[in-house]
Amino acid sequence: MKTELVIDLEAEKQEILKRYRALLRASKSTLQKGDKKEIRKAFDMALESHKDMRRKSGEPYIYHPIAVAQIAAEEIGLGTTSIVCALLHDVVEDTDITLEDIEREFGKKTAKIIDGLTKISGVFDTNSSLQAENFRKMLLTLADDVRVILIKLADRLHNMRTMDFMPRHKQLKIASETIYLYAPLAHRLGLYAIKSELEDLSMKYLDPDTYKFIAKKLNEKKAERALFIKKFVEPIDEIVHEQGLVADVYGRPKSIHSIWNKMKKKNIPFEEVYDLFAIRIILDSAPENEKADCWKAYSIVTDLYRPNPDRLRDWVSSPKGNGYESLHTTVMGPRGQWVEVQIRTQRMNEIAEKGFAAHWKYKESSNDNGLDQWIQKVREMLNNPEANALDFLDDFKMNLFSDEIFIFTPKGALIQLPLGATALDFAFEIHTDVGATCIGAKVNHKLVPISYKLQNGDQVEIITSSKQTPKEDWLNVVVTAKAKSKIKSSLKEEKRKIAENGKEILERKLKSLKITYNTENIQKLSYFFKLPSTQELFVNVALGKIELKDIKEYLSSGKEVESRSPERPENLSVDGIKSKIKGGESDILLIGEDMQRIDYTLAACCNPIPGDDVFGFITVSEGIKIHRTNCPNAAQLMANYGYRVVKAKWNKQQELTFLTGLRIVGIDDVGLINNITRVISTDFKVNMRSITVDTNEGIFDGSIMIFVNDTEHLENLIKNLLKVRGVTGVTRFDA
Ligand code: MN
Repeated sequence: MKTELVIDLEAEKQEILKRYRALLRASKSTLQKGDKKEIRKAFDMALESHKDMRRKSGEPYIYHPIAVAQIAAEEIGLGTTSIVCALLHDVVEDTDITLEDIEREFGKKTAKIIDGLTKISGVFDTNSSLQAENFRKMLLTLADDVRVILIKLADRLHNMRTMDFMPRHKQLKIASETIYLYAPLAHRLGLYAIKSELEDLSMKYLDPDTYKFIAKKLNEKKAERALFIKKFVEPIDEIVHEQGLVADVYGRPKSIHSIWNKMKKKNIPFEEVYDLFAIRIILDSAPENEKADCWKAYSIVTDLYRPNPDRLRDWVSSPKGNGYESLHTTVMGPRGQWVEVQIRTQRMNEIAEKGFAAHWKYKESSNDNGLDQWIQKVREMLNNPEANALDFLDDFKMNLFSDEIFIFTPKGALIQLPLGATALDFAFEIHTDVGATCIGAKVNHKLVPISYKLQNGDQVEIITSSKQTPKEDWLNVVVTAKAKSKIKSSLKEEKRKIAENGKEILERKLKSLKITYNTENIQKLSYFFKLPSTQELFVNVALGKIELKDIKEYLSSGKEVESRSPERPENLSVDGIKSKIKGGESDILLIGEDMQRIDYTLAACCNPIPGDDVFGFITVSEGIKIHRTNCPNAAQLMANYGYRVVKAKWNKQQELTFLTGLRIVGIDDVGLINNITRVISTDFKVNMRSITVDTNEGIFDGSIMIFVNDTEHLENLIKNLLKVRGVTGVTRFDA
């Protein structure tokens, strides 16, 4: 029988209208007079201009802008302008419609937002600095109009939700970008629900095995967990209502990504992660009773269950910088299990779920405005033209995820800094000049060094000296992006001055040796002294590290020093590298589009072994390096240097061995080490390279480096090691 694909256009048209109506329903709460007409106009324009386009899945393209608009309205709580912009977000880039058309039809504001959206979506496949520049642009528009970023997040979320039809390498790249930048941004803007979903979806593509493993485990115990939650919640619910509070009490599962993070961070198996869910108490309170009601609920919960005093978090009295307000406590449940309870009002909950947009809606009733301050800070940082885009991005990203501490100035003003900030960070926060001349600080009237890590509530007075200047090692002392970029630009300036001086000295020295001072000779010299740039050469001369006798040595070395400027990664093309590398007999890894056998080395950061999901990365000097897709460096590499990533796949059959590490923990017992090594070397005939063991009060903690064939081999070994008496956990580690 012949089958043929028939698209029922009439049915498709009905479906488009159905989705459009669902969008209108979702935006109903914000619609004002005339808004519906605007949205209809945008929808008609998008429908018409995308009419001949289809998505990779074969669906009509218009499904995508409708879905993005729906996310913007429903999940972020944005209004009509944003819905219009979301519907039109791809038209300027992908169709004949111009920005002028948009401005004529919808006005300046809409055109400006769409311009921002079009700029961000630019080319993401060129080189790294361009890519970083793109991210930087994106952050610039954040300082301009946050809606651009919010719509971009909605766009990214829908693309991540519908990525199954993409080729694998695109999935990896998009997922990497998402985990590297978009999820942290969503977090910083307080969009917790979107952040968690982006993280889970990224993990689903970057580390599919672990993702499926945890999803399966979660599913297995679902009924049991539901019963536990019901029993736990019942008495709370009862007393809360008795006391006249109106509240919704329920259990909420944690995301797969956050469970995995906990497993990695604490090095524990799934079974030992206790907080697979959190209990939420959402109160319906009048604005003036909010705080009192939250504490009343807290009192009820802790009367029923014993709280862990170290785990009380009060973001009701001092909200987080992104607007998050909530009261968190961890209590001992009836079966000796710790349970996290989050208490907040409906208003606070809406801010926690929808972030920024909700924050603005309630602005009048909220006394703190951390986000405004944060955007102001972003604006300041972006205005520093000296900063290298890639460096900037790294520093900036570090600040995206961090929690804040609150520090007082001597006069009692409150300054917000990320957790881990030092006295020096505080100095730069006050003023660049204060930071640059800082020699120490008084914290709560006690003298401390500049590297002192500040604690929440510290009162800090900075001590300066006019003789002080920023030092290279200060970069290790500070954590804020602001302090880092200020120190870097001042060091650069300093270095430039030294190099200028060194250049003059070198010119004189060469003259005395009768060598012409020209670019070629200078490059030969820097190459001879193994320096990465001529600027470094000048600096070394100025600092007296390279003297006349060293230059003479170079002359007498007689070697014709080849002047080779170090190859820049941007100049390398994938094809160029591929043709340079020849295939060897023992290769077992297939690389590239056509899956050829070429030379490679295994990355030391994640030690891949056959069976692992891997990709190749073209390095400047060491050919292709193979990383695991769940390598800690993978997201950063793929997000910034996507064009240097090549596909790689194991071809199973070989007898080669690969080095990997196992961490074994257990109860120390006579002969435990003997039993472990017996399983490894006698039963499994695996070679051990090293073994280090720590025993502490009867707890055994050992690291063993072994050679295995592939993941299957390793899994069997782990299974058998777990059978050894006394062993309680065996996990693979990378470095
Ligand atoms: Mn799009």
